[in-house]
Amino acid sequence: MAYRAEYLWIDGTEPTNEIRSKTKILADGDEPGVWGYDGSSTNQASGDNSDVVLKPVFQCPDPIRGGDNILVMCETFLTDTVTPHPTNTRAKAREADEKYGDQEPWFGLEQEYTLINPGTGWPAGFPPNGFPAPQGPYYCGVGALKIHGRDLIEEHTMACIQAGLKISGTNAEVMPGQWEFQIGPATTVEIGDHMWVGRYLLYRLAEEYGVEVSIDPKPMKGDWNGAGMHTNFSTKAMRGGYDAIISACEALGALGKPEEHLTGYGVGIEDRLTGAHETQRYDQYSYGVSDRGASVRIPWQVHADQKGYIEDRRPNANADPYVIAALMTNTICEALVL
Ligand code: ADP
Ligand code: MN
Ligand code: MN
Ligand code: MN
Repeated sequence: MAYRAEYLWIDGTEPTNEIRSKTKILADGDEPGVWGYDGSSTNQASGDNSDVVLKPVFQCPDPIRGGDNILVMCETFLTDTVTPHPTNTRAKAREADEKYGDQEPWFGLEQEYTLINPGTGWPAGFPPNGFPAPQGPYYCGVGALKIHGRDLIEEHTMACIQAGLKISGTNAEVMPGQWEFQIGPATTVEIGDHMWVGRYLLYRLAEEYGVEVSIDPKPMKGDWNGAGMHTNFSTKAMRGGYDAIISACEALGALGKPEEHLTGYGVGIEDRLTGAHETQRYDQYSYGVSDRGASVRIPWQVHADQKGYIEDRRPNANADPYVIAALMTNTICEALVL
């Protein structure tokens, strides 16, 4: 019997790229091959030269359709079929992986997001004409007054597991309607593949609940934490000893590096990295053990064990995981090799 392949790719939406998809029906036994789409409708091409090429790069079972159906993550290419499209950020992660994969970089990404009630435009759990009680009881909370959207979160978690994604956990966050899921540990290219498919599954399942998922880094102004994508990172050397942990923290703070990284850590980062709400200011760089006010945190357990990983707390929820992975791998692995 025929089966369905949902082709996924990253578009050219400004300022933050989004995921798109369309369905290909394949005969039993046929593999998903090269395909294409109208790039003039995704901000990736002009109308008179509109074709963008899709090359499958990662596939997994489609847990929503079930059966033999699959999800197919693609890279975008120009019609010469060899030049990556300028918006193809996975190509950059691939280059970093080819250069430094022998250092065995691992990533764990913490994707925070907010469920938005399309009727009010406000986070789920916010009353239509006012504010809920302030931050405090919601993080990892339980109970109907604190928690909104748990059915969706449970369904999304199961979908990620059934798809074979490296999901490692979920939790309710500090604002009503705000949640997090983690992917990892995974390698430099794999982390982006799994995170983008995880995002797709979240948006897709949220359709069925009539809620919109937002990865806006500051969905509510005022005294509410923003939404980030903390990036946990290690190499084989960092998993083996503390000197490499410190070298990695220093590498991220080297001349010009903080600025370079912030350009890839998501639009609107100045509004989130204010120095309040468990962040360091965007124009300062610091690292410290257990310090949630630092740019980079060394977890207490890592300090105790004298080996492990570091957490870059700066990336926004709306950052592109391929871009983060390329930056971190290049900056840290370049320094560690010296
Ligand atoms: P936090 O305590 O900051 O909330 P989380 O538990 O949400 O941290 O996320 C930690 C992430 O780090 C998980 O995805 C986990 O798989 C990942 N992780 C654990 N060990 C390593 C490691 N050695 N290198 C990279 N990532 C790691
Ligand atoms: Mn977390
Ligand atoms: Mn969090
Ligand atoms: Mn964290």
